[in-house]
Amino acid sequence: MTDLTRLTAAETAAAVKDRSVSAVEVAQAHLDRIAAVDDRVHAFLHVDADGALAQAKRVDDGELTGPLAGVPLALKDILTQEGIPTTAGSKILEGWRPPYDATVTARLKAAGVVILGKTNMDEFAMGSSTEHSAYGPTHNPWDLDRIPGGSGGGSSAALASYQAPLAIGTDTGGSIRQPASVTGTVGVKPTYGGVSRYGLIAFSSSLDQAGPCARTVLDAALLHEVIAGHDARDSTSIDAPVPPVVEAALSRDVRGLRIGVVKELSGEGYEPGVQARFDEAVEVLRGLGATVTEVSCPHFVYALPAYYLIAPSEASSNLARFDSVRYGLRVGDDGERSLEEVMALTRAQGFGPEVKRRIILGTYALSSGYYDAYYGQAQKVRTLITRDFQAAWEKVDVLVAPTAPTVAFPLGAKLADPLAMYRQDVASIPANLYGGPAASFPAGLSEGLPVGLQVMAPTLRDDLLYRVGGALELALPPAVPPLAWETA
Ligand code: GLN
Repeated sequence: MTDLTRLTAAETAAAVKDRSVSAVEVAQAHLDRIAAVDDRVHAFLHVDADGALAQAKRVDDGELTGPLAGVPLALKDILTQEGIPTTAGSKILEGWRPPYDATVTARLKAAGVVILGKTNMDEFAMGSSTEHSAYGPTHNPWDLDRIPGGSGGGSSAALASYQAPLAIGTDTGGSIRQPASVTGTVGVKPTYGGVSRYGLIAFSSSLDQAGPCARTVLDAALLHEVIAGHDARDSTSIDAPVPPVVEAALSRDVRGLRIGVVKELSGEGYEPGVQARFDEAVEVLRGLGATVTEVSCPHFVYALPAYYLIAPSEASSNLARFDSVRYGLRVGDDGERSLEEVMALTRAQGFGPEVKRRIILGTYALSSGYYDAYYGQAQKVRTLITRDFQAAWEKVDVLVAPTAPTVAFPLGAKLADPLAMYRQDVASIPANLYGGPAASFPAGLSEGLPVGLQVMAPTLRDDLLYRVGGALELALPPAVPPLAWETA
């Protein structure tokens, strides 16, 4: 009997459709898998077995149909799901059950996708290792002593340990792509505005973008089509047709595609093994008929400092809503203390150290006297980075770089050094500042651990990512995680 947890999403949907398996059986197989392994991986913060089985039954009853009907999915705990605990990895939201579905959640439900539960993440998506979760870290299925990436480490670890064939992530500075890179999975940050942010708990509103995570390129594309498209409830949502991502994933053809290798995203700081796998993957693409040239994007070297001013500035404003009055935690409300004291105590206890660091950084950068020097300057850098991308599009169709400078590092290795943690995002952040789509695809192993190839494309050309990813996947089949700990 086939192990239902090893099927791709496309295979699962086909099997459910032709009734060779029921959606309930598929959901149960994944719930059993979660029960068997998640005590070691810790990908999930909450598992909704009843909800998943009820949704699967609706698919079996023919009430819900579509290309992904009956396929299980792991939802990052930063997207609201009506009645289901949603924490964003923070103690300050412990116990909060949102009264509404995010647009992404609603579209998944309407498509018959079976949401298994909510996945672990760095608190408010601030981090690159999932170690900043208030609920303990997630472990990388390739090596349980290593990080699964962040902030969406729960989503990527769920995929790599076969607890779900699909997951949703969010990417503000790399939180879909870097976890995909270090877990050997596929992660796509759509064009900013391509997927609704309604119900996505805001970190940095001008950068946040939800997107698909999967084990195969086609599965990611199928999920992309389900969640993307205009939404009147998000004022930054783009009112344009969804790019033909599924068709592009199926084409697997890069003949004639002009690929630019970003000169600035290499060299110092990039592990030799990462650079080697990246270079080999680029040669594979050249062998498939793409033309490859080097492209200089001179302002990309300033992306990291600009991001770490813009994102904390927006976060300091967005996180002001967690005030003990409207959501979750409330500390010290004994009838004696003033409202201000209760707010201060709640925020002091409810937020972890990284979130506090960002709030302080952002508040400082926005304060009068420093605004022009920090926030204003960072916005100018953002414009220059956008111009680098636009200049590149005169010469090439897509840009490529390693997704992250290293493979998965050991848990704890960068916790004492915030800047070392921030440097994980050095190659992923430019695309967020620009707003264009970007993805990470598996590109082989270094010392037994996955390496990711990043592809960046012009805004609304998300299809180009899938064209490259599909071709690469066929020519360079992704390694399968050994999961040695399961049998040890
Ligand atoms: N690692 C980056 C940060 O800490 C990006 C996070 C994200 O994309 N949500 O801000």
